[in-house]
Amino acid sequence: MSEQALQIKNSLAAVQDHTRTFSDFTFIYPVISRRSRGLSIGINLNPDKVCNFDCIYCCVDRRVPGKVADLDLNQMRDELKAMIHFARDGGLAKEPKFNEVPWLTRDVRDIAFSGDGEPTMIHNFAECVQAVADVKKAEGLDGAKIVLITDAAGLDKTDVKRGLEIMDANNGEVWGKLDAGTEAYFHTINRTNVRFDRILKNLLETARVRPIVIQSMFLKLHGVGISAAELEAYCGRLNDIVRGGGKIKEVHAYTVARPTPEDFVTKLTTAELNALAETIRQKTGLTVYAFD
Ligand code: SF4
Repeated sequence: MSEQALQIKNSLAAVQDHTRTFSDFTFIYPVISRRSRGLSIGINLNPDKVCNFDCIYCCVDRRVPGKVADLDLNQMRDELKAMIHFARDGGLAKEPKFNEVPWLTRDVRDIAFSGDGEPTMIHNFAECVQAVADVKKAEGLDGAKIVLITDAAGLDKTDVKRGLEIMDANNGEVWGKLDAGTEAYFHTINRTNVRFDRILKNLLETARVRPIVIQSMFLKLHGVGISAAELEAYCGRLNDIVRGGGKIKEVHAYTVARPTPEDFVTKLTTAELNALAETIRQKTGLTVYAFD
């Protein structure tokens, strides 16, 4: 991991607090992300908080309705430009949440589609990607990535595939969620009507076209972590993707960092997460980063 990433301590307020609202912005929010190795500008494509998963660890409070129902593309574009300028001009460095890490606030590492729901559920995903790619280019941010943080359920949609192609041409990266190795555990953790084989197929098909990052949440249910058999099955899924011609750039293994809706969900210790990451490395040969 880079020197910069090592300096990003989990205890920093800017790392702990990934609130998806900032000042009077509606669709854009800045975070210091260890997984992005610095400043990530988040784009909330789901201000209505709609998601096709209901993960037991989700930190989005769906009892409180979103600020607005729909994305306003022009406003999102303007907010993104304003945030890039704010970061570059040193305004972000002076904000209370970010003033512990001023050296991380000027360099935009990535612009990430994430937010309060599943980004691929928006009807005009490709148009949103194009808008971000245009701003990124106009602002000279060639080195910054466009990241899609996704549960993978919508990666087979035609409009989403078109969006991924635009991402490919603009330093894009897909971070696909995989939290389980079996259908049963998948439904326990992600609580969705989407079939597990659709998720696996989508990850494979996407990874056949460009290298993807797999992001996996590991946690404890009623004090018990993932079983050895489930972990074995999970590693098997990763190996299936690679054997099927997919490329996995790296695996991000992380654990609960923020309050969850279920009190029976708790985090792994650093040692437990590191041990799990080592098992994944040994069983898959993949590059695995652990973020506790
Ligand atoms: S996919 Fe993401 S937004 Fe949707 S429920 Fe899971 S953690 Fe929450």
